[in-house]
Amino acid sequence: MDTQTRRLTTSAQVWNGGQVFEAQKLEMPELAAGEAVVAIDLATICGSDIHTVTGRRAGPSPSILGHEAVGRIVAVGPGGVRDFLGKELLPGDRVIWSVTVSCGSCDRCTAGRTAKCRSLLKTGHEPLGGPWGLSGGYASHIHLPHGITVVSVPDRVSDAAAAPAACATATVMAVLEAGGDVRGQRVLVSGAGMLGIVACAVAAHRDAASVEARDLNPERLELAREFGATSTRLATEPATSSSHDVAVELSGSQPAVLAALESLAIGGRLVLAGSVAPGPNVALDPERVVRSLLSLTGVHNYEPRHLQLAMDFLADTQRTHDWDSLVATPRPMTEIGSLMQQPQGRILRSSLAHHRS
Ligand SMILES: [Zn+2]
Ligand SMILES: [Zn+2]
Repeated sequence: MDTQTRRLTTSAQVWNGGQVFEAQKLEMPELAAGEAVVAIDLATICGSDIHTVTGRRAGPSPSILGHEAVGRIVAVGPGGVRDFLGKELLPGDRVIWSVTVSCGSCDRCTAGRTAKCRSLLKTGHEPLGGPWGLSGGYASHIHLPHGITVVSVPDRVSDAAAAPAACATATVMAVLEAGGDVRGQRVLVSGAGMLGIVACAVAAHRDAASVEARDLNPERLELAREFGATSTRLATEPATSSSHDVAVELSGSQPAVLAALESLAIGGRLVLAGSVAPGPNVALDPERVVRSLLSLTGVHNYEPRHLQLAMDFLADTQRTHDWDSLVATPRPMTEIGSLMQQPQGRILRSSLAHHRS
């Protein structure tokens, strides 16, 4: 395929720190083996990008943010590029791609923890002047480097359903894997944002005996019920103690972590995934952990298989769940600055589309 003779450009919304975005036209690098260029069709705005822009989380600038997106292959480097299942990708194929890019050969990668690769790169987190400048989804095109996981998007999965998969949905797959088999188990989902809503749906789909959702926001609890929660509880109400076999904590709030720990029954398993910013310590009663045979695990990001599992899950449930309803109608990329705030009510993601002329 002739991909090297024409030089591709991208129209990007470059983040310059603070709330400042600047439209820039940038040239794509010449593609090396295993690399690809994708035209972005839709990018959703993850809460972590909002934290970066509002200063709650550090990020390099200038850079192109955006790690939840879906698009179509435009060009591939020499030797071609394959998706996670081994299918050769051709121009026009719809794809999503992982948040992490790993070397595949360091001790952590070979131990199966590629998300913690010693030379890890992260989608939408790399400096513009660095080795992977065009790493973000808030642009007309993205450069996919060697070592990123690419997953094909079936036609029946919409752009709005597919875009958040690379962060929220895939992370939930890793979280629930860490929580173990939920069939017949009483599951607690703490935090009913995008991850929590997906977690309710996955736990219900995998035949959990019950799924309780907890959140401060009643609208989100209503949403949790629609997506599979069998009961809901406002996070301001007292937690039920010793009533859950598996608890997944996705909010990162200290009282919620404590309540989730408190809620574990004998043999209970707690997976922490929401605590991604510094916060106050949580007091742990080690005797209770011992006598109640509790397990506690942390999950951050995910492995390549989880991205494929996320897409398979969305494809399996696109008729039973209205995934599109969680994502706002796309706005032009030029409005990015005004969209860097948490959407209200039942909308969990703002979204951006590149308007082609
Ligand atoms: Zn994210
Ligand atoms: Zn590595």
